[in-house]
Amino acid sequence: MIGARLYVGTKNRDKLREIEEILSVTLRSPAALPLELASLPKDAPDVPESGASLEENAEKKALAYARAVSAPVIADDTGLFVDALSGAPGIRAGRYAGENATYEENRAKLLSALEGVPEEKRTARFRCVIALARPGKLLAIFEGEVAGRILECARGAGTFGYDPLFFLPELAKTLAELSPGEKNEVSHRARALAHAAPFLLDLLGENQSPRRQGAK
Ligand code: IMP
Repeated sequence: MIGARLYVGTKNRDKLREIEEILSVTLRSPAALPLELASLPKDAPDVPESGASLEENAEKKALAYARAVSAPVIADDTGLFVDALSGAPGIRAGRYAGENATYEENRAKLLSALEGVPEEKRTARFRCVIALARPGKLLAIFEGEVAGRILECARGAGTFGYDPLFFLPELAKTLAELSPGEKNEVSHRARALAHAAPFLLDLLGENQSPRRQGAK
């Protein structure tokens, strides 16, 4: 066993809150994982998202932060893939309207890119990739997806990012109209972490080759 503290490798407060909430539910479950979650120290390095895929970026972040904190880390990279835009904004979702763009600027750019596209062609999916690493070694990659549609205007004030535009037909709500607990039952991030949870103990305790678990 290499230690019971697991760092959540993100500097995005919204993602940190969600990951902590999702894993806290898991930690309190009957199959509880005796892991203590920790957030990154303030002086953790910035890790540029320069990879060509969500997997590369998640791996890069997990390895860099694991080195920085000398402990196991999980890191998330998320993309929004819109069919009518040939997959854009894709892995550049955070920088869609430019480096350091706000959530609102990114949403505005998405709405203008989709102007005139009819409802049935506004299909999209969030994809989340979570990498688990310890210093010097990638341990596993997990993924989760959620499918939906991009609305013509924002709905809901909860959560963050593109959530107010991302409509889930089966719930007839956007992700931002769900409570945090409801989002954490259906989201791409929750689905990726659901795959990660049963493996965390094993992978932290043994010296295994990288493995991959995915789900839609
Ligand atoms: P990142 O590259 O994983 O940091 O995510 C890029 C961008 O995707 C973020 O800045 C958000 O705008 C958006 N994003 C990530 N996760 C979510 C989510 O769960 N809901 C809505 N938007 C998200």
